[in-house]
This record gives sequence, structure tokens and C-alpha cells, in this order.
Amino acid sequence: MTKVPRPAPFLIGESSALDFLNSVAMPRSVRYDWLETGPDLLDWLVAAGLASEVELAPFREAAAAPALEEVRQEFVAFRERVRPFVQEASGSELRDAGHPVIAEINEILARGARFLQIVPTTEPDASLARPLTLSDSHPLTSPRDLIVRMATAVARLIAEADFRYVRNCEGPSCTLYFLDISKNHKRRWCSMEVCGNRAKAAAYRKR
Ligand SMILES: [Zn+2]
Repeated sequence: MTKVPRPAPFLIGESSALDFLNSVAMPRSVRYDWLETGPDLLDWLVAAGLASEVELAPFREAAAAPALEEVRQEFVAFRERVRPFVQEASGSELRDAGHPVIAEINEILARGARFLQIVPTTEPDASLARPLTLSDSHPLTSPRDLIVRMATAVARLIAEADFRYVRNCEGPSCTLYFLDISKNHKRRWCSMEVCGNRAKAAAYRKR
């Protein structure tokens, strides 16, 4: 089977939870899914900044493959349950803590081992911060812990982002989501290269 080479994932969401939804996309006429195989999932987690190559190395061993594939399927199913939730909730403030997707996320979070560690501060504005800080650690001891980390990112989006600025790109067939963190909240496109320029060209042709 010949396969169209896949571009790098679209990490345009300003949130790893929205980048997760965007891990399947049809930027032009070809649909890409960046979570097609277990190794795909590991590559995507590194690209999205959710895990390091060092943490994931044990899951690249052949022995981990069946568990990794199981988790990959869990990721895809979870992604497709989070999508309609975000679709419905985007554009207004979130208030309903009783939504089944929130219950599912809470259930996944409850499985995770978590502890605090004292580490050097690495923020870009380190001059303003103290040299040492507390960091939240979620150790990855089995592939199953990966879904906990993903659910944590989705939980952060739900609990900490302003959903009024969660948007779907205005490109007519574009499915990409982003958190509009621009100053005047006027972001319209996933990216100028993919949808913005096409819209401009279409408007020009109309004239
Ligand atoms: Zn777009």
C-alpha cells in the first residue's frame, strides 16, 4: 500500500489538548491521522511536548507493543469523545461539571500516580521567579500512564482556559481547533499558510 507522506503534526492549538483533537486533520484533500500506530503515538507525544524521548524509550521496546497499541486505541476513542464536547462548549464559558466527558476525565485522572518534586526553575522569566520550584510529576511506568498524562492536559484546558476563546478555524472544511490567545481575540485561522491565504485568494477571485 502506498502512503502519502505525512507532514509534521499541526501544533497550532496553543493547548496540547486542542493539538490532541488536531492530531487528525484534513488540511487539503488528504486526511492524516498522527495516531495511527503505537510508535506514531509516542512520536506525537514528544512533538506535542507531553513527554520526553527518554521517558518513552521503554515503550519503544517490542515487549511494550501490545500494551502500547491498546493505549493508542484508547487515545483515539478518547479524542473522539472529547471532540464533540469541545465543539459544543467552545464559544461560551464552561459551567457544567456533570458532563459525562468531565466524569470520564476525572476517572482517568484518579488512576494516575502523582507526586511533587523540588526542581530548578526553568521558566523563561526565571529572573522573576525563585531559583527552585515545585514541579508536579506523573511518572510513566507503563503505557497506560500515557492516557493519564493526556487527560491531565485536557483537564487543564477545561479548568484553566477561557472557553469563549476556543475556536474552530474558519476555513470551510477545516476541523482544526485553537485557543485564541491573541490580544484582541481576533484569530480566525489555524494558520495563514493553510487556511488564511486560501480564504484571501477566494475573496480576491470573487472581486
Ligand atoms: Zn484551518
